[in-house]
Amino acid sequence: MSKLEQTEYDLAVVGGGPGGYVAAIRAAQLGMKTVLIEKDQLGGVCLNWGCIPTKALLRSADVLRLVREASRFGVQAGVPQADLQAMVARSRAVAAELNRGVGYLMKKNKVTVINGTARLAGRGRLAIERKDGDGQSHVRAKHIILATGARARVLPGLVPDGESVWSYREALVPRQAPRRLLVIGAGAIGIEFASFYLALGAEVSVVEMADRILPVEDEDISAHVAKALRKDGMHLYTGSRIVSADKRPLGAGHEWHVSLGGKHQETLVADVVLVAAGIVGNVEKLGLEGSAVKVERTHIVTDAFGATGEPGVYAIGDVAGPPWLAHKASHEGVACVEKIAGLHPHPLEASSIAACTYSHPQVASVGMTEAAARQAGRRIRVGKFPFSVNGKAIALGATDGFAKVVFDESSGELLGAHMVGEEVTEMIQGYAIARQLESTEAELMATVFPHPTQSEVMHEAVLAAYQRTLHI
Ligand SMILES: Cc1cc2nc3c(=O)[nH]c(=O)nc-3n(C[C@H](O)[C@H](O)[C@H](O)COP(=O)(O)OP(=O)(O)OC[C@H]3O[C@@H](n4cnc5c(N)ncnc54)[C@H](O)[C@@H]3O)c2cc1C
Repeated sequence: MSKLEQTEYDLAVVGGGPGGYVAAIRAAQLGMKTVLIEKDQLGGVCLNWGCIPTKALLRSADVLRLVREASRFGVQAGVPQADLQAMVARSRAVAAELNRGVGYLMKKNKVTVINGTARLAGRGRLAIERKDGDGQSHVRAKHIILATGARARVLPGLVPDGESVWSYREALVPRQAPRRLLVIGAGAIGIEFASFYLALGAEVSVVEMADRILPVEDEDISAHVAKALRKDGMHLYTGSRIVSADKRPLGAGHEWHVSLGGKHQETLVADVVLVAAGIVGNVEKLGLEGSAVKVERTHIVTDAFGATGEPGVYAIGDVAGPPWLAHKASHEGVACVEKIAGLHPHPLEASSIAACTYSHPQVASVGMTEAAARQAGRRIRVGKFPFSVNGKAIALGATDGFAKVVFDESSGELLGAHMVGEEVTEMIQGYAIARQLESTEAELMATVFPHPTQSEVMHEAVLAAYQRTLHI
């Protein structure tokens, strides 16, 4: 029996994404003997194929845009050229750096890392197909956290091939930029890639079944982003579904003819189709069959701290259901481990998790939309304030967008906050903290926001909800 098999761990974590590796770190901090099994790359989708490499590419698009507009700022920079392969190389280098960083953190925290594919094999046992050439081994652990993440949903007839059908993976490492790109799905991932390829000069169309893009965002935000993207030349087909998709020969290659049903009954032609139509949890081949772990619609069912129906087995992050966000996965990992350790963590309050979309313009929000608050029967006060009259935004040349807040009229509770504009993803946390601290409008009004900053718009939006704006 190997040393690994002789050891009984306090905790085994399956999956080294932001859910799993953060859970492992917290467990180690709490003195648990911890093993983490990862079949691919430490950092999971987030660091390697999601949050981070997309933001690196989008940064390149921002630089391109800024140089294109340089003369507005009194800088003559000539006509910039997009070097897609250099952008991709930078994005991969950024991902690799962070992947190494997670390896370092595992060592620092004395977490044993096994490169292999794990599945449940009886109570307190995992069977591992090793990738490091050591065949199969078993790990024993008092507690097991499943943090296996999720993958892109595949649509029938549109299986990613790396050539003319992409999922987010292929979209991150394209051989060349498509001339005509059709994106299916106008959620955060679809809109971010659409934004990137639009900046590179592609003709971009986006098809969305819901009646608006970014359908989980506040309606005013969706409408503003749609207007901005259309102004930049993007074609948006909302309220429409894919009826058929035919790949037809074109010269030495192919093109796709995609027919739509619903609001826009037309046929779109594209060189590349990017499918960003949702994700499914990685619940297969985990040995769940013989266990009491329950799966609903590809996600493992858990309580507020990740416990499944099977004693000693927990699930966190994307595999445990929406919202599919890295910070939600990490936070669940910490709460789950603290609960296992007998501490008293707060359950995660889903409505206080901020969500960000790094399109151009950016979108960030936390809590209820105006429509959701009304549907919930709340009597509300709504405040809105634009960046167009904010001193810092004018100085930056970034006057597009606004902040919108929704308060409960009787209690003054901040029910939701929604922002669109430059770097709003860096600002939303102010409202998230306010929600976490259960701040009311009075506390937000009494908070001193530094000048000149774009964040002053956040203050003014609160004032606007009570007809007290100062600068408009
Ligand atoms: C293009 C894109 C952009 C995104 N942008 C953002 C963003 O800006 N902000 C944000 O918050 N979220 C973003 N996300 C979502 C974010 O990446 C996920 O929510 C996050 O990665 C979930 O973390 P996780 O730990 O649950 O799973 P993952 O990151 O998916 O990690 C799961 C890990 O488990 C491993 N694994 C699976 N099965 C096994 C097994 N049987 N044995 C061993 N290992 C296994 C996998 O190899 C993987 O490494 C984005 C996603 C995509 C695709």
